[in-house]
Amino acid sequence: MISVEHLTKRYGELVAVDDLSFEIQEGHVYGFLGPNGAGKSTTMNIMTGCLSATEGKVVIDGHDIFEEPREAKRQIGYLPEQPPLYLNETPEEYLRFVGEAKGLRGADLERQIREVIEQVRIGDVRRRSIAALSKGYKQRVGIAQALLGGPKVIILDEPTVGLDPLQIIEIRDLIRQLGQTHTVIFSSHILSEVQTICDQILIIAKGKLVAFGGPEELESALRSPSEILLTAESSVEEVREILERVEHIAGVEIEEKPSGLTAVRLHTDAEDVHDVSRALFFAFAWRQRALLEISLKRAGLEDIFIELTEDGGGSPGAADTEESEASEL
Ligand code: ADP
Ligand code: MG
Repeated sequence: MISVEHLTKRYGELVAVDDLSFEIQEGHVYGFLGPNGAGKSTTMNIMTGCLSATEGKVVIDGHDIFEEPREAKRQIGYLPEQPPLYLNETPEEYLRFVGEAKGLRGADLERQIREVIEQVRIGDVRRRSIAALSKGYKQRVGIAQALLGGPKVIILDEPTVGLDPLQIIEIRDLIRQLGQTHTVIFSSHILSEVQTICDQILIIAKGKLVAFGGPEELESALRSPSEILLTAESSVEEVREILERVEHIAGVEIEEKPSGLTAVRLHTDAEDVHDVSRALFFAFAWRQRALLEISLKRAGLEDIFIELTEDGGGSPGAADTEESEASEL
């Protein structure tokens, strides 16, 4: 449905999106998960034809977004991070305006407006001024305009930011519901939100795609592999021999250090990294070679996970994040 190939966006020295490639298939709900500044909005703005890319390509349903923007854009409905809502209009007027801009006219336009109002459940406020609506309702109006024109793909940039807890639940339900009729891509910096709504998760950090998969795949990726760093009072050859006796070593780099020391960086595919550090300890001891230092290093994904769960709150745990996120406003 959508193919993103080697997408890069530079702002001077800053690389906001760094050689991003992925495929979006029809019929799934995708979550773009990443800390603030990861490049989520930039990627979405490029995918929807609102921003140019420095390098790379976006193809939507066979149409290149830069070469055939009209055809490509017809397949996507977009709710940007800061939607351009016209506050002195009513939702109905606003939807009519957006619908006309999308080329809808007459009875078809009126029918689609009725349908999207129904779909996002804003019937009771459709003739009120948008300025008077709660943030949750404004967000629904934003989702309604994205649905106009019958696009196959709906792209929502951080649709739950700034909402209160009840509104968050409602918007999440709405996204799930949209997922039954549309391919949905939405971004979030809340891990638990993405885990509960999406069946495919893309983790983006510093403009790069660091993981892509279902929630279960992601969890196992978070568990392993891990890295172990150690310094031994032993020669490189001896270290090699000793490591051969230790199981679950998936990759190793050995470096000779001054004063007869050897530094080792190794990856393990063991379920429990402590099993490996214990085995290493005894393997070196058995050869009467001292381990001067041993430390466990988190896999890249786990660092991001921690950054995500700590974001906005300071206390780890996804549930806490959600609370602090919601109580911000
Ligand atoms: P996210 O949506 O994941 O929070 P963004 O895509 O908004 O991240 O931003 C990615 C990076 O690009 C950030 O470092 C941000 O400061 C930078 N950036 C975004 N837009 C611009 C711009 N117009 N000019 C310069 N830097 C930008
Ligand atoms: Mg953003």
